[in-house]
Amino acid sequence: MDANGNPDVELFSPMSSGCTRRRTALSSANVKLLDKQSKINQGKSTRSSKKLLVLQELHEAITTCERCTRLREYCRGIGETRRKAYRDEVYWARPVPGFGDPKARIHVMGLAPGAHGANRTGRPFTGDGSGDFMYPVLHELGLATKPKAVAREDGLKLRNLWISSVVRCAPPGDKPKPEEIRNCSGHLTAEIEALPGVRVVVCLGKIAWDGYLAHLVASGVIERRSAYVFGHGAEYLLPHGVTLLGSYHPSLRNTNTGRLDRVMFARVFVKAMEIAGLV
Ligand code: SF4
Repeated sequence: MDANGNPDVELFSPMSSGCTRRRTALSSANVKLLDKQSKINQGKSTRSSKKLLVLQELHEAITTCERCTRLREYCRGIGETRRKAYRDEVYWARPVPGFGDPKARIHVMGLAPGAHGANRTGRPFTGDGSGDFMYPVLHELGLATKPKAVAREDGLKLRNLWISSVVRCAPPGDKPKPEEIRNCSGHLTAEIEALPGVRVVVCLGKIAWDGYLAHLVASGVIERRSAYVFGHGAEYLLPHGVTLLGSYHPSLRNTNTGRLDRVMFARVFVKAMEIAGLV
């Protein structure tokens, strides 16, 4: 055993001299225990690799999706015309996959990528006003390693948190059509299945809330959406044990008008962390 009480793995290394003699000196009970531990560790490692593979496949499926013609044309068009401030940049202009910690206990769902934010940078809430409001709060609470999100390669990592949206392509006027939300729901379902550790879902805005509720109805977790009323701070324990929290969306429309301030937003995430057992 080492100083932390972990088994001395070198004892079982085929390269270790005197291996056979020392192994014989162990009681058979200890050998069984260590073999069992080794199998458990191998099982965990295999599950972890499988999960990463599923998330990688999902990443591919989302970024190559062309199902909504209107949205794909709009995103590509934005990438060609570009905003004056970003004229020198190459826009992502593809569907934006979720990102974060594969072991996340909290899943944040937004509406859709911003036309010049995530549609430009390729990562949710990165490079726009909503992210400028959200990430400092997440960082202060220890859920993000940096207070600012500017690019996919900026080194920002999330802890115990996954961020995505119910629609993966930027919609004109931030208004996806109902059939576009339905088209994209398969990606959301696959993502939720790939994140089994999630205990709390935080929906940013009513469209994300309704999108998640539609998933719950389709998967048979709830019967009707009407029993779950959106509001800032709304909280429901769902039949499958996950807690649903509502927050106003951190769009400039809400944060510039004072409808949503930093304290209100932070309170939702403190609550999420408490429920998820992170504080
Ligand atoms: S919104 Fe979703 S379903 Fe539609 S094209 Fe984009 S990724 Fe595909």
